Amino acid sequence: MLSRAGLVTAIVLHLVHPMTDFISNLLRVVPDDDAEAHHFFGGSPSLDGTLCPTCKIPLLQLLNIDCADPLLADKSFGPWKRLPFLFCWTCIRDVYCTASGPNAIHVIHTDQSILADSSPPYENYPQSFPRRSALLKVGIPDDVKAIARRLIEEWQSSGSEDDETEMWEPSVEEQAKVTDYFGHPVKSTFCLTHHQIGGHNLGPPWQDDEYRCPNSNCKSRAKRGRKMTFIARILNAPPHGLPMIETLDSRNPNEYNYDVAVQYHICESCFTLVGSNRSG
Ligand SMILES: [Zn+2]
Ligand SMILES: [Zn+2]
Repeated sequence: MLSRAGLVTAIVLHLVHPMTDFISNLLRVVPDDDAEAHHFFGGSPSLDGTLCPTCKIPLLQLLNIDCADPLLADKSFGPWKRLPFLFCWTCIRDVYCTASGPNAIHVIHTDQSILADSSPPYENYPQSFPRRSALLKVGIPDDVKAIARRLIEEWQSSGSEDDETEMWEPSVEEQAKVTDYFGHPVKSTFCLTHHQIGGHNLGPPWQDDEYRCPNSNCKSRAKRGRKMTFIARILNAPPHGLPMIETLDSRNPNEYNYDVAVQYHICESCFTLVGSNRSG
């Protein structure tokens, strides 16, 4: 794990530096019920082959992105016309999927061991999350960037993050601005994340695991499989229609676990996607 200074530096770099990544822009994904855009959170996957190979239940679609959006124009997505970001919160395995035709995917679990306790995170777990329109937004306003920098610096110098009595608190106005931008209350440096497509992973740096493409048809000549590239991170967010590990009525609205997230990587050779949970 990084030292706190290292962590703060990494988060500042994530927030303020333009990166050259799979999609060069860091894009916020924002729920917007009035949006005419073609992206959406939730909904049932409209492709064949979307059963979890371990649990035999439909994979949850967390987000579906229309690759024709001009903000994504700097990249080819190979066979994908829409990117389906899928996951199974019952077995919580890394889910690799390849496009196997215009309307079908093939799902690969690289870990086939049987878990003794495979159960959904809570009772009456939905088969799908509600479909909700979403917009992609680019950029961070200067005032939000300035507040985020100040939060990081203040938290760095205000004692242990484990001791909440010593934690410095932003003003009501500052909190309102960052809450609006990030889509949830910001209580520590770990909260400076939002649903994202492209750019650099805003998640904690120790979640930056390396993923290798397992697709036997991948043209990459890398012996261990091509190293995959970060493409998206989607947070547990009951108010946004994404109750991944807790229901909307399970907590005080300010206390949802927004630090729980599924992150996605893509193979730049064959466009296999992998979703994984590296929370906590
Ligand atoms: Zn499963
Ligand atoms: Zn590949």
